[in-house]
Amino acid sequence: MTKRTIATNREVIIKDETGAMVNIDYTCPYCHYNTGELITIGAGDVDKIDSGFETDQVCGVCGKDLIIECR
Ligand SMILES: [Zn+2]
Repeated sequence: MTKRTIATNREVIIKDETGAMVNIDYTCPYCHYNTGELITIGAGDVDKIDSGFETDQVCGVCGKDLIIECR
């Protein structure tokens, strides 16, 4: 089962009507490495950035699937 983690920090890099890029920092629930991902968010989901969202990612260190929650 895919593990979940909560983002420790997030920074909106770009946000406009076409979408957004958000840098998310998190601790991998498998290898416990502090890492980060730059993710893109589609136009339809831009409103969710402020209210909270989750994103499927792959840990860049151990390569396992995880879900990052941004609250
Ligand atoms: Zn990992």
